[in-house]
Amino acid sequence: MNTFKITNELSRRQWMAVAAGGLAAGLVPLTGRADGDRAPSRRPNTPTAPLATTAISGKKVVVVGGGMAGMTAAKYLRLWGGKGLEVTLVEPEALYTSSIMSNLVLNGSRTIAGLQYSRETLARRYGVVARTGRLTAINRAARSLTLSDGSSLGYDRLVLAPGISFDDAYGLTTADYDARTPHAWRGGAQTTLLRQQITAMQDRDIFVMTIPKAPYRCPPGPYERACVVADHLKSSGRAGCQVVVLDENPVIQAERHTFETAFAGLHAGVIRYIPNVTGIQIDPASKVVTYVDGVGGTQVINARVVNPIVPHRAAGSEAGGWLAQAGLNNSADGRWAMVNVLSYESTLVGAEGIHVIGDASSCGMPKAGHVANQEAKICADAIIRLLSGAQPDPQPVANSACYSPITASSASWLTAVYQYDPIDRRMKIASNGGQTLVNGVAATATEAASVSQENFKDMGTWFNTLMKDTLA
Ligand SMILES: Cc1cc2nc3c(=O)[nH]c(=O)nc-3n(C[C@H](O)[C@H](O)[C@H](O)COP(=O)(O)OP(=O)(O)OC[C@H]3O[C@@H](n4cnc5c(N)ncnc54)[C@H](O)[C@@H]3O)c2cc1C
Repeated sequence: MNTFKITNELSRRQWMAVAAGGLAAGLVPLTGRADGDRAPSRRPNTPTAPLATTAISGKKVVVVGGGMAGMTAAKYLRLWGGKGLEVTLVEPEALYTSSIMSNLVLNGSRTIAGLQYSRETLARRYGVVARTGRLTAINRAARSLTLSDGSSLGYDRLVLAPGISFDDAYGLTTADYDARTPHAWRGGAQTTLLRQQITAMQDRDIFVMTIPKAPYRCPPGPYERACVVADHLKSSGRAGCQVVVLDENPVIQAERHTFETAFAGLHAGVIRYIPNVTGIQIDPASKVVTYVDGVGGTQVINARVVNPIVPHRAAGSEAGGWLAQAGLNNSADGRWAMVNVLSYESTLVGAEGIHVIGDASSCGMPKAGHVANQEAKICADAIIRLLSGAQPDPQPVANSACYSPITASSASWLTAVYQYDPIDRRMKIASNGGQTLVNGVAATATEAASVSQENFKDMGTWFNTLMKDTLA
């Protein structure tokens, strides 16, 4: 249970909602408003959290991106770094919309409004300085940033947590994703549009989803979505509908046992899973989908709803983007930021003091919200050690848990413990609870033996706990 005080800012009812993890918009008053990029920095009042006492003094860390990774980093930098560490969080959106749980918007059991969170507690409780705006350029030599209002911000250490951006792919553009063929791979208006399109489906209509080559955000997420949509179409009485999953990967990428069982059992006859797909082309007007199957045959589907989870990359890594201009998208394919996973500092020579966390980085762990939270804590701890003249923890350990709804009332789970592998210098799965890796060979994650209603209940507890740890 969260222990922070009830203040004049929170009524008892609001406090109860916060304590229960119900931090939805409207329940917590905002100091952050959607008032455009020119909004001034909001200087926090005296923070109410018990910040650590450290020797750090007069240091500035700027965190860019107030999502799962950035919010956690900002909170723990202040909590563990103390008052001598000024932390500024740069974020354009007034509210955070969770992608986690957003598949349940598609069957009507949650709403996007119910997945929106205020970042107000980060300022009030921890003294994080909120800055409304978007990063547009990094001057590595001067250790400063340019924001979308033209202003600059200096830093001693910079933490980048911008999440992902989406490629124009399969003949589609951003305008198509927003209006006709939503990817809905970031919780928000596209999720609501996809819900509306599913609601309008008739008997025997076809829903087509595509899955890009790994690595992509939330490995089990697409398969989970296929299950939720199939379950919803059946339970809402639509006869003969199909959910066709076109996977560019050779096999299911996470919770393989769970999803193979669900596709062949619970959702048999509705979900059609097709791996090793190439050459996808989508007509956004007619919703005709063309692809090449695993044996080289060209196939055509007349879909009613098309949900292309298109290839994505670190936000800003597209040609001309701010991350690319700073050279920080230094993975072989130019899509992700390579980092030293002891500190999440960029491996780019000349980028000392710049850390990249969350989905934008490449570290050996999956691109997931729970993992983003863990990376943020390892990074915050390392920055505090470095600013104190010490070295980062040489043996970081992280855990990940993920729940996947399989129907409107049942779920499975996947969990893993990761630890630093000094041979490959990546995070790898340790077999159980931090057991040492053998010759750098990683074990596999553990998945639920079966799908159950109890797992579905636990999923809500896990989600509320994660969000509370991230921003409350
Ligand atoms: C359908 C779905 C289901 C999922 N389910 C799960 C799950 O069950 N469990 C799990 O662990 N994960 C899940 N995920 C994955 C999870 O949502 C992401 O991995 C997580 O949000 C990544 O966190 P992040 O901080 O890197 O990015 P985000 O949370 O996307 O945050 C990025 C932030 O950066 C901001 N930003 C972007 N560019 C700039 C800029 N130039 N300047 C300033 N700010 C900027 C954005 O506005 C945003 O607030 C799911 C994802 C989806 C799509």
